[in-house]
Amino acid sequence: MMLDYNSLLLALGVSAICLTVTIMGSWLARRAETFLLSCTCGLVLVVSGIFTYAFYVEQPQRFLGIAGFVLFHAGFATIWGAGYQFRTDRLPLRGIVIRALIAMATSVPPMLAGLDGLAFIADNLAIAALLFATARQYWLGRAEAPAPITGITALYTLTAISFVLCAGVLIWDGKLVLGAAPKNWAEDLSLAMCIAGMTGIGALSLALHQWRLAARHRMDAITDPLTGLLNRRALFDQYGTRAMGVSTAVIVFDIDHFKSVNDRYGHAAGDHVLKVFAHELSANGRSSDTAARLGGEEFALVLKEIMPGRAELAAERIRKAFGDRDIYIEDEVLKCTVSVGVAPGRSRPLDFDAMLNEADKALYAAKRAGRNRVELASHLHSVPAGVVRSAS
Ligand code: GH3
Ligand code: MG
Ligand code: MG
Repeated sequence: MMLDYNSLLLALGVSAICLTVTIMGSWLARRAETFLLSCTCGLVLVVSGIFTYAFYVEQPQRFLGIAGFVLFHAGFATIWGAGYQFRTDRLPLRGIVIRALIAMATSVPPMLAGLDGLAFIADNLAIAALLFATARQYWLGRAEAPAPITGITALYTLTAISFVLCAGVLIWDGKLVLGAAPKNWAEDLSLAMCIAGMTGIGALSLALHQWRLAARHRMDAITDPLTGLLNRRALFDQYGTRAMGVSTAVIVFDIDHFKSVNDRYGHAAGDHVLKVFAHELSANGRSSDTAARLGGEEFALVLKEIMPGRAELAAERIRKAFGDRDIYIEDEVLKCTVSVGVAPGRSRPLDFDAMLNEADKALYAAKRAGRNRVELASHLHSVPAGVVRSAS
């Protein structure tokens, strides 16, 4: 071989350091609690393990072997934890510690007893198990971005298999005591796989992180942060130019005397009322409805594929559900109501803006008529498309 094992091991160590620095840098750029930070911690441990193991290859002393096992197992358990965190957004600290301790419990005692052959079999199998478990975490989360995540899963799986092969060769040889670091074709293969795997996984993890950030920005741009509903712009992006026919209705809502809620209970209480209303809006709608916060205490609901006469029923259901709701502000119970304007589907299509205007006119009619009620935009006579009529 052109390069001896230890040079390759050092190459792995150096590339792992580079990857650690790159991933750490990505995390620093936006210090959100991400799986990248956990990845960095895991990699630091693995890199330390690689250098410790390189010393062991030169000088097979028991304590170096044990230190290597401890660092590898803690590192790979942390990398598993990063995978779990990637999928669930929660760092499983207990799970990491338990997995690391189990892995150490299989490999450290035989090393202490001088059975280094047995210890390396256990070490390889433990690392393989941790890598398979990591692959599984990404596989379970693959729906988010199938191509890169499937790539990561495949690389973790292949690396795990290379560790199984290392264990297999040692088992085949059947030596409980080696007296030196294991040296065979499987070790060489595994080392090469580690270099390839780490490079590939590193690149794909960074890509995934960027992809996530971009997706989050896209999401932020269309979401109202207080209620989690679509914002006004997103609603117009979705329907702005679309002509709405007989099966599409637009409903607008405006909470009654909302200013006095703010004045009497404070702005935070007002915000809470807005969230409660947004919840009722989502809970009482169908999955095909689009709910949005137009601004302030005004909301809109677009209903598609709605039967004639049904939009006003949906509006009434939401009005009643919200009015019946006890809203707890500190130790007071607050009742709020909402006024609603409905622009039902019409045979002569209107664009979204005009539909919204119609619904608005009906809403103001509802306000004038005493609030806490649903008013329908009347369209008894046919009007040219785009022309706004007042609710009678
Ligand atoms: P009406 O029954 O006629 O609708 O009376 P109203 O008091 O609800 O109407 P108005 O439009 O005068 O008041 C709306 C208030 O909503 C004014 C503003 O301070 C408040 N507001 C707007 N956005 C927010 C918000 O995000 N949070 C809170 N807490 N209040 C808001
Ligand atoms: Mg208002
Ligand atoms: Mg209001």
